[in-house]
Amino acid sequence: MSDVQQITVLGATGSIGLSTLDVVARHPERYQVFALTGFSRLAELEALCVLHRPRFAVVPDVRAAQQLQLSLCALGLVTQVLYGEQGLCQVAAAPEVDAVMAAIVGAAGLPPTLAAVEAGKKVLLANKEALVMTGALFMQAVKRSGAVLLPIDSEHNAIFQCLPGDYARGLQQVGVRRILLTASGGPFREMPLDQLHAVTPEQACAHPNWSMGRKISVDSASMMNKGLELIEACWLFDAAPAQVEVVVHPQSVIHSLVDYVDGSVLAQLGNPDMRTPISHALAWPERIDSGVAPLDLFALARLDFQAPDEQRFPCLRLAREAAQAGGTAPAMLNAANEVAVAAFLERRIRFPEIASIIEDVLHAEPAQAVENLDTVLAADGRARGLAEQWLSRR
Ligand code: NDP
Ligand code: MG
Repeated sequence: MSDVQQITVLGATGSIGLSTLDVVARHPERYQVFALTGFSRLAELEALCVLHRPRFAVVPDVRAAQQLQLSLCALGLVTQVLYGEQGLCQVAAAPEVDAVMAAIVGAAGLPPTLAAVEAGKKVLLANKEALVMTGALFMQAVKRSGAVLLPIDSEHNAIFQCLPGDYARGLQQVGVRRILLTASGGPFREMPLDQLHAVTPEQACAHPNWSMGRKISVDSASMMNKGLELIEACWLFDAAPAQVEVVVHPQSVIHSLVDYVDGSVLAQLGNPDMRTPISHALAWPERIDSGVAPLDLFALARLDFQAPDEQRFPCLRLAREAAQAGGTAPAMLNAANEVAVAAFLERRIRFPEIASIIEDVLHAEPAQAVENLDTVLAADGRARGLAEQWLSRR
């Protein structure tokens, strides 16, 4: 058997996908690309296929599949092109695959991410929305299948690195008092409140420290990203919402901290470059070169911390409410947010209305207990319907 690991990259054309492929290409003796998936950037997907020569590529529909298959054949590639949700799930669960990078954005990433989990893969989780939506079901599937779940989100990867190896015994058992989740505060941290109604998608997507996809960039600007990450942390580390404190740290150098009962606080630091958590998770429990420059503490000189301002960032409060309510509330929060962010990016609503839509959707019905995946998908659908109604009333 070969030692070379076969990797599927779901969302290869995105920001996390490209960073993953950058790391993978640095270590051809360790990793081979099994499958790459794209959605709208199909010329980029074709170029990635030429570079990485995967066994499979996945596109959204049959027409796009035929087109890409023809181009790849003309280039002499043997890559087979699949399509749709079925294609995504096939390359996530294929027996040859060792590790799956789950980096599709939003609820669309749920089916293949769950397929990878159910097939017992090493799952590198960037797609936080999948875990926020399905929480307990997702973690039960991990336990049942024996999948190895490694967090890619920089904060959760940092927390994972600061926790002892046996943290699954329970945070209290291993002496953890609190998880301190750092947040940059995004591009609008200091903007006068009365100017927020006039900000553009371009301003929201211009993150001061990180270069990311458009949806997560808007989430960072509203701090919904931190809200989703709070829920993500609760599931990954079996923490209560009250055990997770958000700390605004504008430099994004400390990626998160763990506070122990003896007063020790462990932090993970590094330049804000996603290739660090990606390399960490890919090679875990070993370490490999990521291409990230060494941290220069002298150039940095100082690190700042602030409490989050929930008046400026109501999405953070709404996410905490959803985390506390449990059941279907996080799925509804996530779905309403996806609709609201898309509407903001299309210039149909103003920035502060993102929070208004989510608040109205969340308060439209009490959280219901989650029985199975259908309960979650139904709640997701209802929340999208309510958010669309909000938009059409506007
Ligand atoms: P991007 O928007 O850059 O990439 C998203 C990827 O998903 C692209 O490959 C895109 O294809 C694909 N995609 C979009 N919609 C669909 C769909 N309906 N079906 C199938 N594929 C689809 O996002 P990011 O890389 O920034 O983020 C990806 C995930 O990682 C998100 O969940 C985000 O929250 C998380 N994450 C990202 C971080 C970052 O630094 N970027 C940090 C921490 C977490 P195409 O481009 O071809 O349309
Ligand atoms: Mg993050």
